[in-house]
Amino acid sequence: MESYDLIIIGGGPAGITAGIYAARQKLNTLLITKSFGGQVARKAVAIGNYPGFEEISGMELIKKFEKHLRRQKIDIERDEVTKLKKIDNRFLVQTKSKNKFEGKTIIIASGDDPRPLEVKGEKEFLGRGLSYCVTCDGVLFEGKTVAVIGGGNAGFEAAIFLSNIAKKIYILEYSEKVVADVENQKRAKKTGKVEVITSAAVKEIRGEKFVNSLVYQDRKTEKEITLPLEGVFVEIGSQPSTSFAKDLVDFNEKDEIMVEFETYQTKTPGLFAAGDVNVGKFKQIVTAAGEGAKSALAAYDYLQKLKNER
Ligand SMILES: Cc1cc2nc3c(=O)[nH]c(=O)nc-3n(C[C@H](O)[C@H](O)[C@H](O)COP(=O)(O)OP(=O)(O)OC[C@H]3O[C@@H](n4cnc5c(N)ncnc54)[C@H](O)[C@@H]3O)c2cc1C
Repeated sequence: MESYDLIIIGGGPAGITAGIYAARQKLNTLLITKSFGGQVARKAVAIGNYPGFEEISGMELIKKFEKHLRRQKIDIERDEVTKLKKIDNRFLVQTKSKNKFEGKTIIIASGDDPRPLEVKGEKEFLGRGLSYCVTCDGVLFEGKTVAVIGGGNAGFEAAIFLSNIAKKIYILEYSEKVVADVENQKRAKKTGKVEVITSAAVKEIRGEKFVNSLVYQDRKTEKEITLPLEGVFVEIGSQPSTSFAKDLVDFNEKDEIMVEFETYQTKTPGLFAAGDVNVGKFKQIVTAAGEGAKSALAAYDYLQKLKNER
């Protein structure tokens, strides 16, 4: 089994930055990630708040991050971590493809996964008309009618992005009012293609080989309405990707990992959590990157102390 000073779980802004800092500290490091970019790759409109880039697409920014990472001396595995254990002073990491790695320290930077709708047909039509990533799959819906579920900023930005591709876009919002910024609402209206439906409880995604309709209940009239369409994008928020770590960390009520904010260490010595996955309040690219840097330096300090104790 391969053994490392540090294993980083996640290839979003936090994990990538942790990787760059760890390599510069000459730590023997492995980064394991399901995908590169994390939520940044899902960003439908340009990013305007990352210093150095007044306006850049999520895909472009993450390509720059990844290129910077790959220039470092660091091992990278494209895989999903399924189990994390601590045996004596070593962490044992197991992946979906049954690989095992050993690490003296770990940084969990696994961020957030999209929150599922949990309605009939959702699992069945995933990849067959239903998607959680408009920037990844939007292009497949040229000239089609689609729905975006969720009337927050992510939902409106997804609809604005789709307005360059699709014929018609419904935004379905569960509450009586949408919560997206006024600016995003104005931009969506200006496209002339977006129709907002509020008080809509989605009940089912239907289709044969691919999605062909969506059923929702109008929460005011309690009537069930069927919308014929060819695509559904789910944009109802996200949830921390942390199940593999449950035996070694404490969580808050949102399943975010509790850390101590000087070093980002969890309750388990040598185990750190950086970025959106922890209980930190302001979840942004720049803050995730900052926490990735700080947690890698903290892991380095921890390893130095271990060495000096021997
Ligand atoms: C639609 C949208 C728009 C946004 N717009 C902005 C914006 O304009 N500006 C801004 O600053 N922020 C924005 N954000 C927030 C920002 O994207 C996040 O705060 C940031 O990406 C968090 O980075 P992270 O590295 O902590 O986690 P993530 O970006 O979630 O990355 C986590 C990584 O871990 C991997 N992973 C997950 N589980 C496992 C596992 N078990 N094993 C291996 N790998 C795993 C994932 O594949 C992913 O690569 C936006 C978010 C969304 C969803």
